[in-house]
Amino acid sequence: MIKKNIFSLDNKVIVVTGGTGVLGSHFVNAIVQAGGTVIIFGLNEERGNTQAEAIRKNGGEALFLAVNVLEESQLEEAKEKIIRKYGKIDGLVNGAGGNVPEGVLSPEGDVFDLNIEGMKKAMELNLWGTILPNQVFGPSLAKTGNGAIVNISSVASKRALTRVLGYSMGKAAIDYYTKWFAVEMANRYHDSIRINAIAPGFFLSEQNRTLLTNPDGSYTDRADSILRQTPFKRFGKPEELCGALV
Ligand code: NAD
Repeated sequence: MIKKNIFSLDNKVIVVTGGTGVLGSHFVNAIVQAGGTVIIFGLNEERGNTQAEAIRKNGGEALFLAVNVLEESQLEEAKEKIIRKYGKIDGLVNGAGGNVPEGVLSPEGDVFDLNIEGMKKAMELNLWGTILPNQVFGPSLAKTGNGAIVNISSVASKRALTRVLGYSMGKAAIDYYTKWFAVEMANRYHDSIRINAIAPGFFLSEQNRTLLTNPDGSYTDRADSILRQTPFKRFGKPEELCGALV
């Protein structure tokens, strides 16, 4: 009997939003290693183009497109470009997201003086920055008959973490939205799109650097408290998420 590699992404065309980020760039590499073609969406054109070029030099197929996930017209334009170049879109990883500094309650801040505008920004980026790409790319994914969406939630959606309320509410909303979308898709689109979410624990990245590390690189009290409650006593390594993602 010929064994088929069920984790192969050969001939799959997959968009990764936030693909230039710390976790996103590992997602991109994992997809390329599994044989997929990756379209990296990000805000930093220089970084994204360098990343895509390095993948192509190593024999993979990748394209960078500067796309803000909160701008529907940019998402639409990108979709047209991808369909023109590759003919289809099979998968979407919603990696763009993170904390918005002004939405974080400072250690000495008053709980009754939350920065509502900052919190709205965090919720908008994490929740709408996930829903909008799904709305724009969903119909193309469904057309393949076997589309897959992976949303990126967070452990913050499950436990009350101090200070990061807007971010956590955005992620909790992603959890609900993912379940809702899965049910609606099963009802209305049968098996043509699957949707799942990964809820990572704690990883050192740009968005949480100031929460977890001091300017001299040492851990903050918050980081020490997280590690005390983590059985492995260390932060996650981004590659540890990649098996589940693929
Ligand atoms: P990161 O800051 O390194 O990456 C986030 C990426 O999103 C960046 O490249 C950024 O440019 C991009 N981005 C931000 N706003 C955007 C927009 N409007 N349009 C397009 N791109 C935009 O952070 P990361 O840790 O790699 O985070 C990736 C995802 O994982 C986020 O959703 C984050 O909330 C989630 N997450 C991270 C951790 C962690 O500990 N780092 C834990 C749980 C969940």
